Amino acid sequence: MVAMRGVQKHFGSLHVLQDIELEVARGEVVVVIGPSGSGKSTLCRTINRLETIDAGSIEIDGRPLPEEGKALADLRADVGMVFQSFNLFAHKTIRENVTLGPIRVRKASKADADRRADELLERVGIQAQADKYPAQLSGGQQQRVAIARALAMDPKVMLFDEPTSALDPEMIKEVLDVMVDLAKGGMTMIVVTHEMGFARTAADRVLFMADGRIVEQNTPDQFFTNPESDRAKDFLGKIL
Ligand code: ATP
Ligand code: MG
Repeated sequence: MVAMRGVQKHFGSLHVLQDIELEVARGEVVVVIGPSGSGKSTLCRTINRLETIDAGSIEIDGRPLPEEGKALADLRADVGMVFQSFNLFAHKTIRENVTLGPIRVRKASKADADRRADELLERVGIQAQADKYPAQLSGGQQQRVAIARALAMDPKVMLFDEPTSALDPEMIKEVLDVMVDLAKGGMTMIVVTHEMGFARTAADRVLFMADGRIVEQNTPDQFFTNPESDRAKDFLGKIL
């Protein structure tokens, strides 16, 4: 579903992604972990072309990333992204936040988009808040809206970049529960997170990055009990 081959990315003299080779199969859930600055966010951002790459190739569902225009808008719809900050439109209601993309990009009718939005809001447990504005919701609720908004585009893959790290502890679980549910439902997911409970429960594979490289990847079981590289051992020693 996602194929990165020989991907290189620099920021000036900083080689932030080095020789990235990554294949994510349909329905696979890959958790990305690694020290701050190791390139996790940049990796995610290249997949929906929020960042360009210097060399190599990236394909989604067998098609190279489009450069611009409508094809790029379609790609961004196919690749849902949820960030640490929820980035909801403050002056639109929760329902409008979810229907905007389908109406504009997917050319859905308002009635269809509304119906679908209500289904998705129900699924993430906030249907009752549909007519409110983002500022009236808690952080955990806003993040669940952000997930519903991405899902409304019927994405082929979902990228999550530390979706719970800006949340108060009591709200983390409600967001992770939605993500676990998605994973069980067969969504293809790439998730940057330090929530090791999520990795153990939901990940098919854990990918460890350091200094812009994929240093090691394995099943969560193998990775957590038997990390191979010193970098991974050192990292796990600090966070577990
Ligand atoms: P964190 O765990 O702190 O979120 P990360 O693994 O997501 O870190 P990235 O955000 O991908 O790391 O950043 C990798 C490196 O690239 C860092 O050294 C960062 O300072 C640098 N970097 C990221 N974005 C830019 C940019 N737009 N311009 C210049 N340097 C950047
Ligand atoms: Mg990051």
